[in-house]
This record gives sequence, C-alpha cells and structure tokens, in this order.
Amino acid sequence: AAKAAGGGRHRGYSDDLDARAGEQAKLGAEIRAALDLGQFRVVYQPIVSLPDGRIVSVEALVRWEHPERGLISPAEFIPVAEQNGLIVELGAWILRTACSQAVVWRNEFGEAGPQRMSVNVSARQLAEPGFTALVAEVLAWTGLAAHQLIVEVTETAVFGGGLAVQAVKDLHELGVKIALDDFGTGHSSLGLLQTVPVDILKVDKSFVDTITMAGRHAVIATALIQVSSGLGLMAVAEGVETAEQAAELYRLGYRLAQGYHFGRPVAEPDFLGTRVAVG
Ligand code: C2E
Ligand code: MG
Ligand code: MG
Ligand code: MG
Repeated sequence: AAKAAGGGRHRGYSDDLDARAGEQAKLGAEIRAALDLGQFRVVYQPIVSLPDGRIVSVEALVRWEHPERGLISPAEFIPVAEQNGLIVELGAWILRTACSQAVVWRNEFGEAGPQRMSVNVSARQLAEPGFTALVAEVLAWTGLAAHQLIVEVTETAVFGGGLAVQAVKDLHELGVKIALDDFGTGHSSLGLLQTVPVDILKVDKSFVDTITMAGRHAVIATALIQVSSGLGLMAVAEGVETAEQAAELYRLGYRLAQGYHFGRPVAEPDFLGTRVAVG
C-alpha cells in the first residue's frame, strides 16, 4: 500500500543527493558556458616584504562574474570545475592571463614592480599529462621567465604522489618556483617537504589569526618559520588582517606576508610600483 501511495520512492536523503547532483551538473554546464562567454576574471593580491613594504609578488585569484548571481567565489566553482575536468581549460586561461599581466607590469614598473606572479594550480591540472609542457608554452608565448612564475599547490594535491608529484618536479626542473599553499592544514605537511621540491611555504591564515592572542597561540607560526628557515625556504604568512599581526609576524622572523591589511585582491592594482604601509 505504501508503495502504491508513495509511487515507490522514498523522500529524503537520496532526494537531497539527487538535488545536489543536479545543482552540480547545472553549475558545471554554466561553467562551460561562462568560459565561452568570457565571464571569468583574474584579480591580483600583493605579497609584501615586511621590512620595507615592497610588493615582491602578486597572487592571481580567479573570479566569476555571473550575469544574474553576481560575483561567485572560487571556493564554490573551482571544486565543480575540478570534478568535471573544466579546470584544465579554465586553469590554462588563468595561467595565460596572469603571465601576460606579469609581463605588462614588468615592462611598466621594472625593478620597482612585483618580480613574480603566483598562480594556483589544482590537483586535476597537475595530473593532466602535458601540464608542464603547457606551462613552458605559456612562458615562451608571454616572455615571462620561469623563475618569475610561482605555482601554488596544496599539500592535499600532491599528497597522493604519482603524476602530480612528477609534474611538480618537472616544473621545478624548468625553473618555476613551487609554493605549498595553506601549509599546515592538509595531509602529511612535514614529510612532503622531503619528497617534493618546494621553494615557498604559505603558512595558512588559521595560524596567523591566533598569533596576537595570549598564551600558546603563536607556537605553530613560530615552529613553521623555524622549519622554513632551517630548510632554506621562504615563508609567506597568509591572511594578515591587522597591523598587530604584521608586527608580531616580523618579530617571529617572517619577512613576507599577504592579506587584507596590505591589499585585497583587485583587478587593476593602483599600488604596484609603490610601497605599502606595513606597520
Ligand atoms: P588561496 O590560494 O589560499 O587564496 C587565498 C584566499 O584568501 C583568497 O580567497 C583571498 O582572497 C583570501 N584572502 C587573502 N587575504 C585575506 C585576508 O586577510 N582575510 C581573509 N579572510 N581572506 C583573505 P579566494 O580568492 O576566494 O580564493 C579561495 C581559494 O580558491 C584559493 O585559496 C584557492 O585555493 C582557490 N583559487 C582561487 N583562484 C584560483 C585559481 O585561479 N585556480 C585554482 N586552481 N584555484 C583557485
Ligand atoms: Mg593560493
Ligand atoms: Mg593560500
Ligand atoms: Mg588559504
């Protein structure tokens, strides 16, 4: 009787999953269309030298300008693009856009401008055969030098080893700098430093947030700067929002930082070629 009345289908959990899957599929199709319609933008956030406020590099961050929904965060669409593989095409576009922009600024500002462009690369991109060849091609096409490009990867992306780790090694061989993003929040943090060539540790915002609080809260930020200098790496403190945090980071030995305190990600930074206030 229940079957007859209910049409043979339970409502609830599996319907929610269906609905979710449906939304993801819809979003996936919209990403495809957005690529063709040119709705993606790249914005740039400065990475600053704490001792003198110089902008040493910028991080490229993608945005989706959706005609109805407004600005959509990458946290929402990057995972979907990774799932359906569109990140490969989107990522290639981001890479070309960011590297071209870096060359424009290099020509405009020279030594006074940012010396490096940092681009986020996801696991799916790293695992794509020919990713290193793509990077080499973009560098040749734009005229950006390999050492002027930083590829940001997460610990999780390279945790599984395999193609992703090989890609990182090949990129490093090419002269591209490798940054471990969100460091300390993923898998196997310290062990990875022995298996993957790394130049830069990006210390996650969560370890910066608590740094000025009383008690033991600077313990991890302190440990990470020690690991970083011990291994001869550069450390970038992420998500710095206050002058107090910047001062404390400097006191602990950090020399590079990024966060709203220095500048938000913007399309056309008007601060390049200048120094930002660090204190
Ligand atoms: P991420 O690479 O760790 O980038 C840093 C994120 O923190 C950015 O968020 C940035 O806008 C935000 N942020 C910077 N400073 C501050 C601060 O002081 N306070 C706070 N609350 N947030 C700050 P966004 O742009 O929303 O990007 C989120 C994540 O999406 C990125 O984290 C990255 O994992 C991914 N993503 C962004 N752009 C790309 C891309 O072009 N390709 C790939 N594969 N992933 C991307
Ligand atoms: Mg990043
Ligand atoms: Mg990060
Ligand atoms: Mg982060």
